[in-house]
Amino acid sequence: MINEQAWSQLTEEFKKKNIALVAVSKTKPVTDIWHLHLLGQRDFGENYVQELVEKQQQLPKDIRWHFIGHLQSNKVKFIAPFVHLIHAVDSRKLLKEINKQAAESNRIIDVLLQLHIAEEETKFGLDEDELFRLLEEYCKDPKEFSHVRICGLMGMATFSENPVQVRKEFKHLKSVFDEMKQEFFQEKPFFQTISMGMSGDYEIAIEEGSTMARVGSLLFGSR
Ligand SMILES: *Cc1c(COP(=O)(O)O)cnc(C)c1O
Repeated sequence: MINEQAWSQLTEEFKKKNIALVAVSKTKPVTDIWHLHLLGQRDFGENYVQELVEKQQQLPKDIRWHFIGHLQSNKVKFIAPFVHLIHAVDSRKLLKEINKQAAESNRIIDVLLQLHIAEEETKFGLDEDELFRLLEEYCKDPKEFSHVRICGLMGMATFSENPVQVRKEFKHLKSVFDEMKQEFFQEKPFFQTISMGMSGDYEIAIEEGSTMARVGSLLFGSR
């Protein structure tokens, strides 16, 4: 069941603030995606490769598919022909594989690097050292990465009832983004995306500078 009212409110608010809304449709049926598509939603997020591929085949081709979950290198080839943005690149190996598969598909694939900002160990992502080392390599040898374009950062806050903790983590992501921009992406207008915020914390994320929120249960109901 789609919460049309929540979708309308978010869409209106996000348009005013120039924030992209990615509707996270994982585990939800294609009929729900059709429904939101009919209302005008075009950006959808999935985090299982097989599910994404099946849905992509059945649904309108003007949908921009975001892969938001942890991506295994050996599965990149299944989504490389069509994926719009890969949010959670967390290793050099994965970035190289995306580059390779993008070349096979004659595409340049947009990606975000995932920074580990949460306290929980369980969440994926690069730490700051790894992030800056990867960027140095990416900038030093652009030919090695000519089929990927790093467009920004993604992060997931601690799953916490404590808004102070969540805000602190989002602030941190924003400051690392600013530092990256300054050091590696000056005069690169495509480097502009901070993907942060979900159903439970998107308001804080927006206050802290999010440019793209990934919202699931608020739109589609709980999973
Ligand atoms: C599931 C998921 C979301 C959406 O979560 P909700 O709490 O349902 O809004 C956002 N980002 C990622 C990476 C997810 O896996």
